[in-house]
Amino acid sequence: MKLLYIVFGLIGTICLLSAQADTGNGLPIIDMHMHAYPAGFNGEVNMPNPMTGKPSGVTSDEELLRATLKEMRRYYIVKAVASGPLEFVLRWKSAEPKRIIGGAYFDEATSLPDVERLRQHFMAGQLGVLGELVAQHAGLSLADPLFEPYLALAEELDVPVGIHTGLGPEGIPYACCPKFRVTYGNPISFEEVLLRHPKLRLYIMHGGWPYLEETKAIMSVYPQVYADLAVINWIIPREEFHEYLRGLIRAGLGKRIMFGSDQMVWPEAIGMAIEGIESAAFLSKEQKRDIFYHNAVRFLSLKENGG
Ligand SMILES: [Zn+2]
Repeated sequence: MKLLYIVFGLIGTICLLSAQADTGNGLPIIDMHMHAYPAGFNGEVNMPNPMTGKPSGVTSDEELLRATLKEMRRYYIVKAVASGPLEFVLRWKSAEPKRIIGGAYFDEATSLPDVERLRQHFMAGQLGVLGELVAQHAGLSLADPLFEPYLALAEELDVPVGIHTGLGPEGIPYACCPKFRVTYGNPISFEEVLLRHPKLRLYIMHGGWPYLEETKAIMSVYPQVYADLAVINWIIPREEFHEYLRGLIRAGLGKRIMFGSDQMVWPEAIGMAIEGIESAAFLSKEQKRDIFYHNAVRFLSLKENGG
């Protein structure tokens, strides 16, 4: 999600995270939510990380790709869904075809490709996920007719679909995105689409935060729906994130929650996101492994390779 997180960095209530914590156990991780963006994100190169206040030192598109792949290797991220402008996604995919799963991106500034062109990309394996769909910022519900042919295609080809939910920064409708509406970020609004497309493999990005009750309601009734924890695991106050995650676990959803970083132009965010999960004292070792790896293996229909 573009543009959104700068404001979060200004919120004084968020305490700085500790330095990156290498998991150190050499077990595989799947990142369900990353971005293949240009380094000139939002028109600015080397933008400060909203949490640390420090720029990551990445000044070109190639450097951003290389630095991200380096962090992936460091944390043993064996697969990552990377979405962004199509030309960037295809470049990242060709740089590391086995690790990168291309995501078809949509937001207020970037449109989805033609349906038939998208079909070709999916069939060729260049793209493997429909998402991130940031419909909320364009003032659209997922149930909007605009998405219907794309959702039908994803259902037909059995391609997973990732939808942005929940958060946006303070004042966003007055700034970048006048069409943004809080309402469309509520996962409860997915119900009509789930009824229309019962075979759709849908995941709620950002875990539906802050809509805990609605997320539990949708996930409890629709067992095919999963969720990722991207960005809320490093950008919202840690106590709030842990309480939210605990709520999902307590509701019995621990087998459908997946790791995501939402790395945009800050490769170090990958380690910060991992630390957000590792520091959750209420999670058992098995529950962490489910979040980091096993749940995504099941959702993506991959073959287990241990871990
Ligand atoms: Zn998002």
